[in-house]
Amino acid sequence: GAIDFRGQTTVVTGASSGIGAAFARELARRGSDVVLVARRVDRLETLAGELEDAYGGKVLIVGLDLSVPGAGQKLAAELAGRGVEVTGLVNNAGFGTDGAFHTEDPARLADEITVDVANLVDLSRAFIEPLRRAGTGILVNVASMAAYTPNPGMAVYGACKAFVLSFTEALWYESRGTGLRVLSLAPGLTRTEFFDELAGGAYSGSYQMPEQVVGEAMRALDRGRRPSIQSGWRNALVVSL
Ligand code: NDP
Repeated sequence: GAIDFRGQTTVVTGASSGIGAAFARELARRGSDVVLVARRVDRLETLAGELEDAYGGKVLIVGLDLSVPGAGQKLAAELAGRGVEVTGLVNNAGFGTDGAFHTEDPARLADEITVDVANLVDLSRAFIEPLRRAGTGILVNVASMAAYTPNPGMAVYGACKAFVLSFTEALWYESRGTGLRVLSLAPGLTRTEFFDELAGGAYSGSYQMPEQVVGEAMRALDRGRRPSIQSGWRNALVVSL
C-alpha cells in the first residue's frame, strides 16, 4: 500500500535543482521531514523556505561536495550529531561529462565516478542499517536510461548508471521483508539544468519534466513490487560527436 511518510526523515542528495528538488517537494508534501544535500546552499535555503511555508515539516540543509570521497560517513556523522534519525534516502546527485572519451579531462571523469558511483555506494552503506531498522521508508538510487542504451560521448556516464542499476536491484532483493522500499529509477531525457547543459538549447525532441519522473517513482514505491523502473523517453542520444 501507499507509504506513510509522516514522521519520517528522508535525505535527498542533489536537492538544489531538477529531479532532486522535485523529490524533496513531493516527500515534504507527503509529510516527510527532509534533509537537503548539495553544494549550492543558497538554492537549498530557498527551497527549504518554500517547503516549510507550504507543508510545515522540518527541513534541514547540509552543504556537501559529493566529488570528495568519504562523504557518506561525514553526512551520517553530521546528522547523528544533530540527533536526526534518518528513515529514507534518495541518492539523486549526479552528472555526466559529454565528449569523446579520448578527449575527456581525467580529473573530471574521476569526479563523475565519485559522485555518480562511489559516494552513492558510500551513502547507501552509511544509512542502510538505520533504513532497514526503521523499515518504513525508501531508498531510491537515480540511474538513467543511459544504463540501458550506451551513448557515444557518454561512455563513463552510462557505465556509472549501469552500476547504479545493478547495485540497486541487488539491494532490492536484500531488502525484501524489511519494510524498506528500494527502487532504481532510470529517467529518460528530463528538463533540468543537466539537460539544458547537454542539449545546449538545441534539442527539439521529446522530454519530460522532473515532476513526472518523481510521480512515477512514487507510484512504483507505493506498490513496492519492482526493483527498477524506467521513466519517459528512450531517446537518450543528445550528444553529437
Ligand atoms: P541537475 O543538474 O538539475 O541536478 C543535479 C543535482 O546534483 C544538483 O542538485 C547538484 O547540486 C547535484 N550535484 C552535482 N554534483 C554534485 C557534487 N559534486 N556534490 C553535491 N551535489 C552535486 O540535473 P538532474 O536533476 O537532471 O539530475 C539528477 C539526477 O538525474 C542525476 O543523477 C542525473 O544523472 C540523473 N538523470 C538525469 C536525466 C536528465 O535527462 N536530466 C536523465 C537520466 C538521469 P549542486 O550543483 O548544488 O551541488
